Amino acid sequence: MENTEQEKNKVTELKEALFAEKRHAAQRMSDNDAKACELFCGGYMDFMNCCKTEREAVRFFTDELDAKGYVPFRPGMKLNAGDKVYLNNRGKAVILATIGKAPVTDGVRLCAAHIDSPRLDLKQNPLYESEEIGYFKTHYYGGIKKYQWTAIPLSLHGVIIRKDGKKVEVRLGEEKDEPVFYITDLLPHLATEQMKRTLAQGIKGEELNIVIGSMPFGTDKGSELVKLNLLRLLNEKYGIVESDFLSAELEAVPAFPAKEVGFDRSMIGAYGHDDRVCSYPAFRAALDVTAPLHTTVTILTDKEETGSDGNTGLCSSYLKYFLMDLAECFGENGRHMMSASQCLSADVNAAFDPTFPDVLEKNNCAYLNHGVCVTKFTGARGKSGTSDASAEFVGTVRRLLDGAGVIWQTGELGKVDMGGGGTVAAYIANLDIDTIDIGVPVLSMHAPYELVAKTDVWSAYCAFRAFMES
Ligand code: MN
Ligand code: MN
Repeated sequence: MENTEQEKNKVTELKEALFAEKRHAAQRMSDNDAKACELFCGGYMDFMNCCKTEREAVRFFTDELDAKGYVPFRPGMKLNAGDKVYLNNRGKAVILATIGKAPVTDGVRLCAAHIDSPRLDLKQNPLYESEEIGYFKTHYYGGIKKYQWTAIPLSLHGVIIRKDGKKVEVRLGEEKDEPVFYITDLLPHLATEQMKRTLAQGIKGEELNIVIGSMPFGTDKGSELVKLNLLRLLNEKYGIVESDFLSAELEAVPAFPAKEVGFDRSMIGAYGHDDRVCSYPAFRAALDVTAPLHTTVTILTDKEETGSDGNTGLCSSYLKYFLMDLAECFGENGRHMMSASQCLSADVNAAFDPTFPDVLEKNNCAYLNHGVCVTKFTGARGKSGTSDASAEFVGTVRRLLDGAGVIWQTGELGKVDMGGGGTVAAYIANLDIDTIDIGVPVLSMHAPYELVAKTDVWSAYCAFRAFMES
């Protein structure tokens, strides 16, 4: 009897010493941390409700940077420790930096996240009328399950450059008294044929047509009077004519506000967590670390969801040019600064979903409420397209996070042969910068309304902060 008791104690002891620890974040956080987490997530939800597109996020960030004393970066400017600069890339991406005490050749601490999210973009000739209903044609942006975007309220965001060159800003459908827009789906009574389609084909790209109106202009007989009436209203409100759509970027996004989810209010539902749930904590951390040892650089980029091409995406040279210009401000070679730099590539990961357990491997995936997820490699089918952080760099990051008491986990996006996804990590690692992926686990990623846990959002902030302070 006594022997068994002793054996039991030995087992517990050995387990504690040898097994990796897995515990819910709430069981590891102090009361103070829990309070700080709540406060932080309140700010995050406000941010989500005012920033639904990359342009709106850049506006939010630069307004705050201006208020906090950051100044626009100029090549060749004189910089000293504690100085704060930023670069606004065409209103769609932003880089901010706080100069550290150490020489720039010791490298910078770089955090990268993206501020674009899957959505429906309007085509260049979007407006048409069919059977006295007015529509916009769309071309979806990023990877979506198309059927999810029907029968929900949509809002319209973006800019129109008029023939005269004037820029008109559009944001309609977010406020209480504003109308929303809508994509129809077939009623189940008549969907027998549609229901035979595969889920991928359930709604096709050319069926994502947004209903925008149904009233004709006047009582005269004639064709396209609904379209005419819509153009009249658009002309009154925005001063535009039909051809102005040619030089516009209009994005339809879900009109839902961010909300707490669950009886315990432990989660947040919102459109576009991917990747504003990493962008916002990275931005906050960058602002809160005012006297770093190493220069901190935070890049909040565009175009990740379409593959990072284009001059506001991370496949372009704008980050490299900024880093080279920054080094030159100190009379140093940018290449040498980059080689000594470290980067957290902050992007979301898939959280384990008990309803769909088959796609993830239970020992190597992220769980809700187990903290920010560090991912050594991404890619699909043989790590294709990954930058694969070195064991040495993972070791460095691990010591850093543990040392700062950050709640974190590791996880891979999907089973080996299941699929997977890439991030911007590879493009930054290709600049000869030690880079690793880290981010918040998300349920229903790329759906119009995504789900995250508050404790994971908070631990992402703690991780970025610890990294920037290192
Ligand atoms: Mn992402
Ligand atoms: Mn994504």
